[in-house]
Amino acid sequence: MHATTPLRDSGIDRIGQMPWGTHLCQFYRDKDDLLDILVPYFKAGLESNECCMWVTSDPLGVDEATSALGAVVPDLDRHLADERIQILPYDHWYLRGGHFDMRRVLDGWKARVDEALARGFDGVRVTGNTAWLEAAHWADFTEYEDAINGVIRDLPVLVACTYGLGRCGATEIIDVVGTHQFALVHRGGRWEAVESTERRRVAEALREREHRLRLLFENLSSGCVYHRALEDGGRTVDYVLLEVNAAFERMAGLRRDQILGRRAGEVMPAVHGVDWVSMFQRVAGAAEPVRLECRSGLRTYSVLAYSPAPGFFVTLFDDVTERRKAEEQREDFLRAVSHDLRTPLSAISLSAQSLLRRPDPEVLPRRLNRIVNACEHMTATLDDLSEIARLDSGPVPLKRRAVDLGRFGAELVARLAGALDTSRITITIPEDLPAVDADPDRLERIVVNLLSNALKYSTPGSEVRLDCGRDGDRVAISITDRGAGIVPEDLPHVFDRFFRTKAARATGVQGLGIGLYITRALVEAHGGSITAESEPGRGSCFRVVLPAAS
Ligand code: ADP
Repeated sequence: MHATTPLRDSGIDRIGQMPWGTHLCQFYRDKDDLLDILVPYFKAGLESNECCMWVTSDPLGVDEATSALGAVVPDLDRHLADERIQILPYDHWYLRGGHFDMRRVLDGWKARVDEALARGFDGVRVTGNTAWLEAAHWADFTEYEDAINGVIRDLPVLVACTYGLGRCGATEIIDVVGTHQFALVHRGGRWEAVESTERRRVAEALREREHRLRLLFENLSSGCVYHRALEDGGRTVDYVLLEVNAAFERMAGLRRDQILGRRAGEVMPAVHGVDWVSMFQRVAGAAEPVRLECRSGLRTYSVLAYSPAPGFFVTLFDDVTERRKAEEQREDFLRAVSHDLRTPLSAISLSAQSLLRRPDPEVLPRRLNRIVNACEHMTATLDDLSEIARLDSGPVPLKRRAVDLGRFGAELVARLAGALDTSRITITIPEDLPAVDADPDRLERIVVNLLSNALKYSTPGSEVRLDCGRDGDRVAISITDRGAGIVPEDLPHVFDRFFRTKAARATGVQGLGIGLYITRALVEAHGGSITAESEPGRGSCFRVVLPAAS
């Protein structure tokens, strides 16, 4: 199948390209005027894979038309022989049966189009001459010209009607201009195209609609490409990009003028594992849009393509990298949650079973201790989960008061003794440190999260420091460890939801990747800030700054 171009070469300088469905007229003075326009008009048609039909009338006969066209189209005889072009006198076309019958003539044009399409041509280009028309037929003929507009609007047809100036009065000229989109007139030694007001109105309405559609198209968040098949020897070898929107320019990292007219292979995101040619062959044959997902470098795209006309395609690209990453993270998270809950649960179950089998007073405290620790761990995990759900549903309600960090720190570490290895923690808090303005429960959560990370991600026995001090008129709390640290590329992400470093995952240290996310949200709810510094191999320091109580 041939890829049809939406715009056709008219062959006429003053008009250039025109869309299918164009209906124009020429006012001529003599035979030369007719040849001036019609010869290049049909030459362009024969060069553009179209079928042609030239209906002649006085002052230009079939023979003269044929020889003038033959002078510029060397293989005209062959085209005539296989009816690629027909050149015939008006009475063989308009007045078949001895009179003008509008329906029969219109059906005749339509039949020519169907025949041309069936033979693999793009469409039909015709001309008719009205010199035969007698005044008595004028009203019928104007009606016919009007009807042509309705018929050819959706067909691959170009129609050029020629009117002899000598035979048209002012009324006729007005009628003719009104029923055609352009009128070609000879003025000041050259041809000019006069637009009818109807055409101008339609063109304005179209421009307005085009403007609205373009606004929509340009503001689509999907990268959108309109392209056509590029054929070589009847085989599609690539695609030529005809139109793109701003989102596609951003995706391709190129400007529109660097994209249009280029091949898809050069411009479409370099995608691994997608054979575009076979994909669009599938699209060409499909009634429904075809969807697929592909990766290009580090990005993942969801692609949707369909074919609005044979050989033409619309392809939409959506960057779904973040969405896919979030889905993967969510899956990892759910796996981690179930693992995190299952481990203490099996410890509880094993301890209880062994107590049932051997209710020995000697092992009882140890077993019960294990059960209590496992329960505490599960409670902490469940608290994290409900905290995160609460954070997602709106601002954190705080019960603030002045908290003296000296007392708060000492009490907290004492309370944690059962659950964490608090012997590793060194606390330094200056005596004259102002109290912080905080919700003590939330503050405990912040400090516990940071302390347990510091203990968890460093070698057993190594020191963890909790230092407090002033930061201008605020109060700073730093938690420093001597662990493996965090590599610079991971550091900006440690506060992201579900983020865990590769190193943490590799060491098998348990965690859900939500502790620091919750910590930061709680700190910020207090109007404070949190930062992390780390030197791989030497340790990390998390620093929280909170407002002092007035
Ligand atoms: P998790 O439950 O995984 O500990 P967090 O949100 O508390 O989740 O921490 C996110 C990630 O940041 C951890 O998985 C770990 O990779 C890294 N991280 C946090 N604190 C430290 C630390 N003190 N030392 C090294 N890595 C840390």
